[in-house]
Amino acid sequence: MPRALITGITGQDGFYLSEHLLKQGYDVYGLIRGQANPKRPLLERTLPDVRIVDGDLLDQASLMNIIQKVKPDEVYNLAAISFVMLSWNQPELTGEITGLGALRVLEAIRLNAAASPSRSKSGIGIKFYQASSSEMFGKVRETPQNEQTPFHPRSPYGVAKAYAHYITVNYRESYNIFACSGILFNHESPRRGPEFVTRKLTIGAARIKAGLQNELVMGNLESRRDWGYAGDYVRAMHLMLQQAEPDDYVIGSGETHQIKEFAELAFARLGLDYREFVRSDPQFMRPAEVDLLIADPSKARRKLRWKPEVSFRRLVDMMVDADVEAESRVQAATA
Ligand code: NAP
Repeated sequence: MPRALITGITGQDGFYLSEHLLKQGYDVYGLIRGQANPKRPLLERTLPDVRIVDGDLLDQASLMNIIQKVKPDEVYNLAAISFVMLSWNQPELTGEITGLGALRVLEAIRLNAAASPSRSKSGIGIKFYQASSSEMFGKVRETPQNEQTPFHPRSPYGVAKAYAHYITVNYRESYNIFACSGILFNHESPRRGPEFVTRKLTIGAARIKAGLQNELVMGNLESRRDWGYAGDYVRAMHLMLQQAEPDDYVIGSGETHQIKEFAELAFARLGLDYREFVRSDPQFMRPAEVDLLIADPSKARRKLRWKPEVSFRRLVDMMVDADVEAESRVQAATA
């Protein structure tokens, strides 16, 4: 049975990737941080087959011990401070976790392999996936963006991700580690954190429909993003580690939509006109906005035979329906 270790198991992608790998017959280990992480009971309930291990991307020794104990075949590094706005408030922590965290995982792999060189022909048998981001393109140099497009990150998050990306490439080239970087464009789901723009819209629409609030204050509604469904994108992560050679891949839908289009569809799903409820406030705008992000995922289509299955409209509907249902459960419980 192949064995996978996932950091960031309590996040959106951690959930979908675990589900996917468990279905593929993997033994899945999930790294969780903190002595009283409030997400632990939820994780134990929703993914009972995942084995939880305690560690932290800030703690090299914990990562060393986990790699030694679990002996994974594949490591997926999804853990990060992932909310771009937060990265301006906590740039140092973002650098430590989102940037140097990837280095610590790679070091744990390298040093464990050095201690037991018989594990594989190349010396390092553990495959590594790094969760890179389209935010590295930032002030884009070309449109659409592919694997050759130069980076110009526009946030401490994007800068930290660029470091993690390059250190992944560097460890592949320096130590022959099977290390891949997936440059993923925005992907969403009903499990997206409530602080992110799409989920803020779908929660807001559900609450307005239920009469629990009458206004939703957002940042820049004109920004454009390339959005897909997280369940589709985790398949690409797994496929990258099944190739003959390690490589980097851009993963996205190749479509772009304005945030206000997302708002329009989300509110229309509930028979509402978003223009009556949603307003934009500069306090929620980024100090430096990224330009038009749109993926050119042709390499992934060609080499991984990957393509997304869930459309933009279906994604919006799925998220709105889930938040309406969640809201009505809360209402029923408090009635
Ligand atoms: P997410 O929901 O925000 O999950 C982040 C995860 O990182 C959480 O499980 C969190 O654990 C964990 N984490 C944070 N600090 C940690 C630390 N010091 N040690 C160990 N774990 C720590 O993110 P996501 O949407 O699933 O995204 C997964 C990865 O893909 C992230 O690296 C993100 O930056 C990247 N990415 C995401 C997108 C997207 O659109 N979703 C696009 C491109 C790249 P707690 O629960 O304990 O906080």
